[in-house]
Amino acid sequence: MTPRIFHADAILPGEEAPLYDGALVIDENGMLLDVGPAGEVLPRHAGAPVQRMIGVLLPALVNAHAHVELSALRGKVSGGHGFVPWVERMMGLRAAERPEDDAEAIELAAADMERFGTVAVGEVTNTLGAVGALARHGIGGAVFHEIFGFDRERALAKLAAMNEERMARAVEWPKGDIVHAPAPHTVYTTHPDVVREVVAEVRASGARTTVHLAEHPAERSFLAHGSGPFADFASRIKFPIERFPVPHAGPVKVAADLGLLAPDVLLVHLTDVRSEELDSIAASSAPVVLCPRSNLFIEVKLPPLLEMLDAGIVPALGTDSLASNASLDLLAEARALADRFPSVSPRTLVRMATAAGASALGRADLGRLKKGLRPGVLSVQGSLKPGDDPCAFVLRQPAAARKWVSRRRLGEHTGVVA
Ligand SMILES: [Zn+2]
Repeated sequence: MTPRIFHADAILPGEEAPLYDGALVIDENGMLLDVGPAGEVLPRHAGAPVQRMIGVLLPALVNAHAHVELSALRGKVSGGHGFVPWVERMMGLRAAERPEDDAEAIELAAADMERFGTVAVGEVTNTLGAVGALARHGIGGAVFHEIFGFDRERALAKLAAMNEERMARAVEWPKGDIVHAPAPHTVYTTHPDVVREVVAEVRASGARTTVHLAEHPAERSFLAHGSGPFADFASRIKFPIERFPVPHAGPVKVAADLGLLAPDVLLVHLTDVRSEELDSIAASSAPVVLCPRSNLFIEVKLPPLLEMLDAGIVPALGTDSLASNASLDLLAEARALADRFPSVSPRTLVRMATAAGASALGRADLGRLKKGLRPGVLSVQGSLKPGDDPCAFVLRQPAAARKWVSRRRLGEHTGVVA
């Protein structure tokens, strides 16, 4: 098959400024052979078939934080009262219903993610329950196998068992686009020696890991004083928190002391972060991932995006799970931020949903429309009005206006589907 040319009203490269009246050339494997202004690209590929697209082209989306295995909890956990009441309800339901065993709900969620235009995900898992479904829907990225535990010896034993399970199950998974690594749940629910062990293992293998950090005030009061709503909850359900050495410091300082402020650790949420903490995060080059709709649902609060951008951090986006979100659509996260931070440019928000997510997962080959890459290409259909910002247009259009132009398949070539 000869390469095909797609000529659109605008092309969003992911990081750089939009190209108005742009064209891109894709070979049968989904490789981008050329991207640029139509007036330059079309003459360079005279004779190749040209498809005129009414609308905008952009790279496939990278959802840097999700828990697809919890999809059966869609709509079942109420929010709005803060993290501790939410997690208490979620854990109660989870014990009774075992959402990770609901293969149908997981399959539906993965199919939705594919339909929304997702090429990669940072899936945080306790059970590896969604890995097969994600692979079946062509979604790669990272599987972060989560470790909890207040008791040092028991948590280290769990980590060893988890590593064995992951290695054994890995043979069932498609190779190529999925990497897997252990990940501490948080710095207040995972014994510090176990966090250090995870960091050492991940660093030795050249992979990445992730941690939920500075998500809510109860985390801060537990780390600083060993007390507060989280300590009360943990005592009530008989977690052995007396085995956990309270560090008497804030979450970001604790993370720094454990080696988590580094370019290979995705820091998720930061809803409760303080200005001076943001400076140390920015200096560390650790990737930051925001899950705005989940934060709004649980805490009725958003992370300080303007301060982050001022500090030089361009966060990635994640959906978190359907236990705290209405959908796994990453552009709905960007839209939620656009509604509440009107001073942030739509171009930055599109970058957060594409290139920043890819960078966070260590995938420079995704999230960007650049010659030589196979990132997966989406179109957002509709008529741009004169003077319209194509990034704002992409955020405004409904998910139904999104179509795959070139779909990336795990470990295989990509077919042009449009
Ligand atoms: Zn999460």
